[in-house]
Order: sequence, then C-alpha cells, then structure tokens
Amino acid sequence: MLRPQNAMTIFQLLDKSNCRRCGEKTCMAFAGAVFTGRRPLSECPRLDRQIIDTYSDNSQNRYDVEQNRDDYLEQLKTLIKGIDLKAATGGTGGRYENDRLIIKVMGKDFSITRNGTISTDIHVNPWVAVPFLNYVLYGKGMDPTGDWRSFRELADGRERYPLFQKRCEEQMKQVADSYTELFDDMVQMFSGKQVDPQFQSDISVVLYPLPKLPIMVCHWLPEEGMQSSLNVFFDQTADKSLDIGSIFSLDIGSIFSLGAGLAQMFTRLARRHGFEPPSC
Ligand code: SF4
Repeated sequence: MLRPQNAMTIFQLLDKSNCRRCGEKTCMAFAGAVFTGRRPLSECPRLDRQIIDTYSDNSQNRYDVEQNRDDYLEQLKTLIKGIDLKAATGGTGGRYENDRLIIKVMGKDFSITRNGTISTDIHVNPWVAVPFLNYVLYGKGMDPTGDWRSFRELADGRERYPLFQKRCEEQMKQVADSYTELFDDMVQMFSGKQVDPQFQSDISVVLYPLPKLPIMVCHWLPEEGMQSSLNVFFDQTADKSLDIGSIFSLDIGSIFSLGAGLAQMFTRLARRHGFEPPSC
C-alpha cells in the first residue's frame, strides 16, 4: 500500500481536468482535501478503482500531521499556490492589493501572497495561521446570521467539547475572573464590540478572528454560592465555513484552534498587565 506524503503526490494521481464533479473547484483543491482528511480519494469519480485501492489508506499521513503542525502549515501554504487569490477575495470578506489577499484577523491586516508567504502586524503562530489558510482555501463565504451556537452544538462538537472547554473556555474564565479589564481590552485591542448581554450573562463581547467567523464570549459573574462561568459561542454558519477539528487531530482543527489560540492570547495579555491566571 502506497502512502502519499503530501498533497502534490495526490494531485499527480488525478487527471487534472478540474471538471468539478467531486464538488471542489480544482483538482488541486481536491488533493488538498484528501491530504488533510476532509475527503476520501474515492470521491473523485475519474480515478481508476485500482489507484483508489492502492492509495486510499492514508493512516501514515494522519500520524505525520498529528506529529508536526508546522508540516501541516507548509502543506496548506503549498495548496495556496494552486488557487486564484484574487477570485477568492469576495468569499473571504478580504481585499486584494499589490498581489496579496488581505484579511482582517482580530482587526489586524493579515496577508498572503501567491507563493504562500504570510505577513501581518501581529505575531504569526500556528493557531491563527492554520485557520487563516483553511479559511482562504475552503471557506464557503457564508455571511454570519447572528444566530449563536455553543461549540457543543456545532457539527461534531459534542464529542470534542470536553477538550475545547478545558483549553479554551476554562482558560478564558480564569483570565476573566482575575483580570477584570479583559473585556474592555478585547474590544479596544482587537476591534471587538460589546453587545447586549446574551443568555443572561453579565457581559458579552463579539470578536472577529476572521471576517465571516465571529466569536461571542459571554461571562457570568459569581453569585450566591455559584461560581463564575464563561462560554464561547459561534455563528451557526461556523461549522460550514471551517472545520471544527481535523480528523488527524483536534488541536489543528480550525475552529478549535481559534478558540484555544484566543485563550492563549488573553492569558498573555493578562500576564502583561501583572495578573497571573491559575493554570488549568
Ligand atoms: S472530480 Fe477528479 S478530476 Fe474532476 S475536479 Fe475533482 S479531482 Fe479533479
């Protein structure tokens, strides 16, 4: 059994007609979807059964990706080279200038060139780079509806929620409990906005980690023997726009990654202001 080591190897197996019968815009997009585990190779109707049987077990890919997030990032950058960034602009809510696709990430410009080079005013780290690239490559361009869902309510969210709660919501709650200016700073530093408190919370803030993927953070203060709590909500279109968790590893799934990354960012922010949130 042969195991493709990257998306280009899978692309070489395809007939490169870009016929779209698989539902992807190009054969390269389909190759990327197979490599990242979104689609099985068998969903290209133009492939011979023999090729599918020879290559369809990609368990080695799963292992490699799980072990190396940087490698996954490089694969996504390679896939960027196969798409028309200018054409992708509209669906992302970004703009195209000087041969770059520019998208606002937490209110800051984040740009990518045709050769996959990312540049930004803020530090590029995998938590944002992976969702950013997946958003450009696979985002469906759906406009948010304002109908909020918990992580648990998103497709495939229930089984993944315990880890999301630990790495995102619990960590954010520790920050919010000790650093009372967190929500003001979120709004000012990351172009967020405070909205009317939702779900009977004490405060609700909406942030835009990606233009069409808002996140709402709601915090409930402690009262009468009840502890404080914090929940993160996503627009109901989120799981159609981005993957909630890769089949390789939840940690590199885009929606999970956004939430966990925000929690890390807020923890760093609190420390800079002299607060030391308890570790979860
Ligand atoms: S169905 Fe196969 S040949 Fe057609 S675009 Fe998809 S991957 Fe390419």
